[in-house]
Amino acid sequence: MQALRNALLAWYETNRRRLPWRESADPYRIWVSEVMLQQTQVATVIPYYHRFVAAFPEVRHLARAQQQEVLKLWEGLGYYARARNLHRAAGEVDRVYGGRIPESFAEFRKLPGVGDYIAAAVLSIAFQQPYAVLDGNVKRVLARLQALDLPVDQPAALRRFRALAQELLDTRRPGEFNQAVMELGALVCTPRQPDCRGCPLATACTAFQSGRVAEYPKRRQPRAVPLYHIAVGVVRREDRLLITRRKSEGLLGGLWEFPGGKVKPGEPAAEACVREIAEEVNLQVQVLGLLTRVRHAYTHFRIRMDVFTCRFVAGEVRLNGPADYRWVRPNEIDAYPFPRANTKFIPLLLAALARE
Ligand code: SF4
Repeated sequence: MQALRNALLAWYETNRRRLPWRESADPYRIWVSEVMLQQTQVATVIPYYHRFVAAFPEVRHLARAQQQEVLKLWEGLGYYARARNLHRAAGEVDRVYGGRIPESFAEFRKLPGVGDYIAAAVLSIAFQQPYAVLDGNVKRVLARLQALDLPVDQPAALRRFRALAQELLDTRRPGEFNQAVMELGALVCTPRQPDCRGCPLATACTAFQSGRVAEYPKRRQPRAVPLYHIAVGVVRREDRLLITRRKSEGLLGGLWEFPGGKVKPGEPAAEACVREIAEEVNLQVQVLGLLTRVRHAYTHFRIRMDVFTCRFVAGEVRLNGPADYRWVRPNEIDAYPFPRANTKFIPLLLAALARE
């Protein structure tokens, strides 16, 4: 087993990518990078990471920021609960631990948004504590290495994968080792067409040695991803546009958006837009035309969004759903954090307004 670990560490030493968070031993920066890297690819994360740590170089800066500043820096990265939790957790680290990230697994794990993965990654990389990480890359490597028939996406299999990862961990260099397994999964033991001939684990890999790499990892049947039809209105009143803020918790919580909602079966999208705006913000509006149609995929569903330009007709804003609202000038929109489905059409909207 030790020979296998040494081979992997030697491979990592030579092949690892130079990434900005690997230049730092600061637990806060490692924490930020690991939170961003959950669900998001490295190339996407790099510019966000640079901007984030430039704006909040230490935990106390993040702790004392407004949630909206944090969400603005996260805009486009998705999974915004990560940002809200990181912000709240930084507040606790600042208040309860005097700005020092707790080195105890149990203490760190209690912070908002810190699950087993983040705790193991940060504590092993920053403090050399012997906790194995388990993410999609690690599970794939383990499933192939041992030719495991357990589906990687089955919660019941988690304990077994966790035990295997812990068994494989090199406890003398846990931070390096964890990164080495994940790097192998990202660069060599990739989901499709892994480079087994260039793999330091090839001689010990059951799937490779038995010619069954393509069979692993096993998965349950993929679930169908539903498609929702959404109607959204850009409501204009003189030189201002109406935007609303979603409640702090839940999907896209705390972000701003143009009001709207789901189109009912058989309902024309323009009528759904008028109805949703009346229900959500109590305004009567008239649809002027279709600005554009946007498609966007979330993890568990996809949306097709019809974006209408609307004229304010009557009413006073009374919120039923959103947490807040603003009538903003077009040149103020950039100050607000929006979800990706909205930022996809905002440039088009601003260009259309500029032409008028
Ligand atoms: Fe993955 Fe191939 Fe290496 Fe096995 S030999 S761990 S399947 S890359």
